[in-house]
Amino acid sequence: MEYLINTPIEYLKGVGAERGNVLRMEAGIDKMWDLLNYFPFRYVNRSTYVKISDLPSYEGQSIQLKGTIIGVREIGTGRAKRLQASFQDQSGVIDLVWFKGAKWIKNKLVPGVLFRVYGKPTRFGSNWNIAHPEITPFEQVAHEKGLQAIYNSTDKLTKKGLHSNGIEKLTYQLASNILGKIPEILPQEIIDQYKLIPREEAYQLIHIPRNFEDVEKAQMRIKFEELLFLQLELLLRKNANIEKSAGFAFGKTGEYFDEFYKNYIPFELTNAQKRVVKEIRKDLRDGTQMNRLLQGDVGSGKTLVALLSMLFGIGNGYQSALMAPTEILAQQHYKTIEELLAPLDIKVALLTGSVKKKARVGLFKALEEGEIHILIGTHALLEPTVKFKNLGLVVIDEQHRFGVAQRARLWRKNTKPPHILIMTATPIPRTLAMTFYGDLDVSVIDELPPGRKPINTMHFFEKSRLKVFQLMKEEIALGRQIYVVYPLIQESETMDYKNLLEGYEAISRTFPRPEFQISIVHGQMKAEDKAFEMDQFVEGNTHIMVATTVIEVGVNVPNASVMIIESSERFGLSQLHQLRGRVGRGAEKSYCILMTGEKLSQEGKKRIQTMVSTNDGFKIAEVDLEIRGPGDIMGTQQSGIMNLNLANLATDGQLVGAARETAREILKEDPKILLGKNRGLRIELKRQLKSKPNWSKIS
Ligand code: ADP
Ligand code: MG
Repeated sequence: MEYLINTPIEYLKGVGAERGNVLRMEAGIDKMWDLLNYFPFRYVNRSTYVKISDLPSYEGQSIQLKGTIIGVREIGTGRAKRLQASFQDQSGVIDLVWFKGAKWIKNKLVPGVLFRVYGKPTRFGSNWNIAHPEITPFEQVAHEKGLQAIYNSTDKLTKKGLHSNGIEKLTYQLASNILGKIPEILPQEIIDQYKLIPREEAYQLIHIPRNFEDVEKAQMRIKFEELLFLQLELLLRKNANIEKSAGFAFGKTGEYFDEFYKNYIPFELTNAQKRVVKEIRKDLRDGTQMNRLLQGDVGSGKTLVALLSMLFGIGNGYQSALMAPTEILAQQHYKTIEELLAPLDIKVALLTGSVKKKARVGLFKALEEGEIHILIGTHALLEPTVKFKNLGLVVIDEQHRFGVAQRARLWRKNTKPPHILIMTATPIPRTLAMTFYGDLDVSVIDELPPGRKPINTMHFFEKSRLKVFQLMKEEIALGRQIYVVYPLIQESETMDYKNLLEGYEAISRTFPRPEFQISIVHGQMKAEDKAFEMDQFVEGNTHIMVATTVIEVGVNVPNASVMIIESSERFGLSQLHQLRGRVGRGAEKSYCILMTGEKLSQEGKKRIQTMVSTNDGFKIAEVDLEIRGPGDIMGTQQSGIMNLNLANLATDGQLVGAARETAREILKEDPKILLGKNRGLRIELKRQLKSKPNWSKIS
């Protein structure tokens, strides 16, 4: 093993100084061990040949043919010039086509010689051809094995003879000589439990498989290992945090909580809310700092959970802060919480960018003297001028809008870190949560308050606009309200405003005053105008709200029953789901209408179909993960955590869970990984950590 880890790649037979350099620069292959970890990205079945007459059943797949060239001709002139060869087996004839490198190929295409041809056939009318196939004289076809491993290459590698085949020669040589050189590192009980093959066998079979079963076994073993070490690392980090971060102990539930819960709570908590409040209560009591992520679908009642958590703090003599991503949302939280707490002797204050200087001074003073119990606001809360007397708990709503760095600034407001509750309505697939928030605790509200009816989601093209107007009229006649949302995407801002304003005019013509009243809200309006228009809608004075995505998060108008999303193909899945969550809050039947242009990309189609077919935020999150991949969802800041080579968080969900479970069990029995049976684990973990940058704490 030491030999593999420490020996530079140059020393492998057939590499040498020049190729060694290119391998290092282009593929990060420095030592022998790195080459073993340069895994094939697919495998070609070399054991079967397809008959030309059977091609129609292989459309879109790569296949192999065996036959001879019966004619070669050059067709076209200039840029359209191409080389075309007729290739024949016992069952038929097909054209092979080259657009570049024709001269070089032409010399190879000797009629009468038996060739192996590999490529992806496409249909042109009733004819078939293969563009740029791989073609090898049959007598040069090496050992005719079951599967051939295919490796990524680059131009520079190819120039040194290291196209996929060249790399394969190297890995073949190395991998066929490793038995006895790679010791086992997993404890036997784990190997037995998951029926894993030995480590050395996995490294051999992943490069030299006999069949797809071998590939699967080898991949499973290597993926499991990758995920296990990732989870071990995250859990070790989490345990270290717990040891370090002493926090405030909220010893009692407190009189505020007790009184509110007994006399003023507006409805019975759902079971999920009760469970989550208990989890939070337990965290707050025991003297270590809470770092909890609260996930709950839109409308699941997170605000009330936040409020109850803040009451624990106030009852123990601490202030709380609630931070929201937008001014509108902060205002709405302020209003909701102020109303709910009116019967209690609790002072709630609002701080946003538009609070005037004079009012600010008074507010800051009251805050420092501890007269304000709850401060609600936007990013403005993070300003250094905002000082608390004793901040005990911070609730962050819709955390994905806050950067990691911004959150870190919260820590500096105190000598001891306040408890942190991060709430998000963008469900994060379990596998991602376990990985990216591996050092946070996660609570989930997986139940909606009673009486909600599922939202009926429909997709319409522009040409059906009249039908949509009709539905709007019917709903308004029933006393309901309607949102119409336009995308606003930075790069095309002017265009987007034009669309919004044109849309507004069209709606105004169809729904004329004074019979109908319309609100409009967009990012270029002054904060107070926005608030006024919003209020009009919340109060029920206007029927239709035309808006950009500023209403995306948190706005609560139970009487609204229709959400129309314009150019919906331009929104991401989680955004669409958020927007849809604005309706269906009253008990009435409600609708989400997705308008799109005629032409939809594959991905756009998939997003729309997903929205139409399910209301389940977690299912939507899974599809989102499939489409976009983990990096895109979590943002690049955190992608450094990921060191996965073969495992894929989107498709290997079960393995992620198994690895998480295994890591937990290992650390439970052996928190510092010191036991003899875990020796292999310890050595490998150390080796991996040494080569990793030290990514900072998530919150
Ligand atoms: P979100 O989780 O999206 O922030 P909110 O906290 O805004 O959801 O709650 C959505 C709506 O559900 C609000 O109108 C709230 O008053 C109501 N609600 C919350 N909890 C319950 C409950 N246990 N029973 C009935 N309605 C509830
Ligand atoms: Mg909310």
